[in-house]
Amino acid sequence: MNTDNQTAVAKFGGSSIATPERLQLVGNIVHTDPRIKYVVVSAPGKAQQGDNKVTDLLLLAHQEVSTGVPFTNTFAIIAQKFKALALEARVAIEVELEAIRYGIASAKPRDWVASRGEYLSAKITAAFLGFTFIDATECICFTAGGKFDKEATRQKLQSVAKQGPAVIPGFYGALPDGTIKTFPRGGSDITGAIVAAGVGADIYLNYTDVPGFLTADPKVVSGTRQIPRLTFREVRELSYAGANVLQAETVFPVREAGIPILILSTFEPKKGGTLICPDQSLNENPHDITGIAGRENFTRVTLERAGMNEEHGFAERALAVFAHNAISVEHMPSSVDSLSIVVAHSELNGRLETVRQGLQTDCAPDNIQIAQNEMALIAVVGKSVLGEETLAVIVSSLRQAHIPIRMINLGSSKLSVIIGVENASFKNAMQTLHQALCTK
Ligand code: ASP
Repeated sequence: MNTDNQTAVAKFGGSSIATPERLQLVGNIVHTDPRIKYVVVSAPGKAQQGDNKVTDLLLLAHQEVSTGVPFTNTFAIIAQKFKALALEARVAIEVELEAIRYGIASAKPRDWVASRGEYLSAKITAAFLGFTFIDATECICFTAGGKFDKEATRQKLQSVAKQGPAVIPGFYGALPDGTIKTFPRGGSDITGAIVAAGVGADIYLNYTDVPGFLTADPKVVSGTRQIPRLTFREVRELSYAGANVLQAETVFPVREAGIPILILSTFEPKKGGTLICPDQSLNENPHDITGIAGRENFTRVTLERAGMNEEHGFAERALAVFAHNAISVEHMPSSVDSLSIVVAHSELNGRLETVRQGLQTDCAPDNIQIAQNEMALIAVVGKSVLGEETLAVIVSSLRQAHIPIRMINLGSSKLSVIIGVENASFKNAMQTLHQALCTK
């Protein structure tokens, strides 16, 4: 197929621009692919294990200022990373760096500080590539209430599309009064998708440090393989369950616009990657089980009350307690007289006692049991996941490995089964399930 007239948006993740050598790799990719007309970048990420991401350092500096601790050392590390990149791109950044330092010192808001990594890396990348820099404040819009403003963004991006090759910082945009607002962590992926939809790209190339999605996280499981194709829905399931390749919200803008995403490695671009395409292509994945993903550290709150099944509004009152405390609920398995609510432990953020009291007052249960920070959740994702055989394999393989199942959530999605195991069994359970389901 002749792709010469196509337009691609390429997003480069933090690890892809963490060092001057890697900036060169980005240059090679962009200059050899004529489709790439728009580039979205993250802030520099980790250059090696144990290194710090620039965004984490900026947030640390912000916290240091707000608690009266000197931030000089933290800022020196940030400045050093940017200076090395700027040297490679032959661009002067002293004025920009000083403006950032001054902004942090004068206690500018958190989102402003957090956004400066993407801002400066986009400026440097634009100079390096010979592209125009377009600030995200000029084209990624939020409403005054802080919600992403799709229509205003679409209009602004239409004018971006007329300006020729450009680099846009990921992760943030602006409220109508110009105040900077960030997306959730990992949000440059979202910016890339929004830009791809806004400029009407043919494809969204997402360059990261791995050649696409694997059947499981290789840091947890051995013997994983690349997944060549995924549907948008499978990506949602895997990303939400813990696959750390793409920010889970990324798919929405491109799915709506019918634009495929190709995830590739900046370090091995020839190795191919994962193509994420509309749901109709479901049958193209030859494997029945697409992959598995999981996360540790969930808390389960179980309420018991005799006659719960006859009572109207019990679950609603229980959920309202979590909603009032702005705590997202992940799962809610129930039986005749009991109801469990499963939440990520980090969501509770020290509010467990408040939640317990709220449940006591509003639901008057006979008993509340809290299994704090004990459970890991694993999602098995694939088009045959609800088949009898898959379920039998899940249960029997875990049994053979002596891993007790604490919860099974099944049926609400045709594409995934969620299994709860103890945190301590997480790695073993991931390896066991992967071996049983993904290696055939
Ligand atoms: N730099 C931001 C983060 O570390 C956003 C991103 O990398 O996508 O979360």
